[in-house]
Amino acid sequence: MTKITINRHGTDRVLDGHPWVFRSDILGADGGEGGEIIELLSPKKRFLGYAFYNPISQISLRILTTKRETIDPEFWTKRFLLAVAGRRAGPAGGSRLVFSESDRLPGLIVDRYCDVIVFQTLSLGMDRLKTLWIDLIDRCLKPSAIVERNEPAVREKEGLPKERGIVRGGLSGSLFIEESGRSLWVDPLEGQKTGLYLDQAENHVAATRYASGRVLDLFCYQGGFSIPIAANVEEVIAVDSSGPALMKAQENLEQNKIENVRLVEANSFDTLRAYDERREKFEMVILDPPPFVATKEVSGARRGYKEINLRAMKILKEGGVLVTCSCSQNFTPQMFYEILLEAAHDTHRQLQLLERRGAASDHPVLMTFPESNYLQCWILRVM
Ligand code: SAH
Repeated sequence: MTKITINRHGTDRVLDGHPWVFRSDILGADGGEGGEIIELLSPKKRFLGYAFYNPISQISLRILTTKRETIDPEFWTKRFLLAVAGRRAGPAGGSRLVFSESDRLPGLIVDRYCDVIVFQTLSLGMDRLKTLWIDLIDRCLKPSAIVERNEPAVREKEGLPKERGIVRGGLSGSLFIEESGRSLWVDPLEGQKTGLYLDQAENHVAATRYASGRVLDLFCYQGGFSIPIAANVEEVIAVDSSGPALMKAQENLEQNKIENVRLVEANSFDTLRAYDERREKFEMVILDPPPFVATKEVSGARRGYKEINLRAMKILKEGGVLVTCSCSQNFTPQMFYEILLEAAHDTHRQLQLLERRGAASDHPVLMTFPESNYLQCWILRVM
């Protein structure tokens, strides 16, 4: 097996439980090809673990284990079943069964929508094992279809092409899942991500507890927040820039017989500016933008988050509720906190923090891997 020696900095991170080693921390490799599993050594040649190797990615090593153990199909099966056993969603629901590094399966995502499985292999090492994963999913979960959604941009950094398709079974007609008593349309092939934003499922329910009056749901996608909230409020205005997403949102409204949600195809930045200029007020504003930053360069993201949060605070009534999210991995909770304070300062508002939430519990945070704490959903009362 190829041995790779890393420097002190990389060694300390691995010993602290971080699952990544950057290319710049590699001291030397005695060969080794992309996608291979290698043995990791400290500068003093101490055994640190086994890892996936990809010399062309900045994240060159992804730790699989820090124990001396054989990495064979049995190893992968055990890890997979352990991940699945930790999830509790019922048969009609959607849930994430495998969440990459958090389940010690770096690069593997497996989502379930009723009896349809959607997977992604986002690291070169995991992609090499694709057939194994498809067979394992088929054997252990017996789905009616397995769909591959390997389009995320991170695959490029691993030297992998975009791939999408049904790899086993077939999809028949519309697929609806149940989320808190409502039916939601899922399109595993064409929808964003693997079909739905499963990471927001518990936040949809949480927001419902505070909803009243007029609600503005910005970046609404297929109505994840609007649909459960509708029953508690007078009116929801739900805005997204994607026509296809709004068409599915419309189907969700019809399916659930909801009549007080108005769907608007627009840029949320423009919508906020327009309501601010017209001095229209809302009891609740929801902000769930796409990631504004994919690199360590966060100044653009800072400006984006500040602008939407500032405008939202301006159009909220006194005592209104702001549900504000950030899903940029490099935008830390501390940075989010800072821009919220700045926005409150500039609008002369005070903020009461009602709930500081993250991703749903089927997207667990690995405590030694801050990158897995990528989603913030804070619920604030704006005074
Ligand atoms: N709130 C949704 C998920 C939102 S994902 C849920 O809980 O299910 C982010 C959404 O923002 C996507 O649907 C995307 O189409 C939309 N989007 C991206 N840029 C936008 C913009 N400038 N204005 C409005 N919508 C935008």
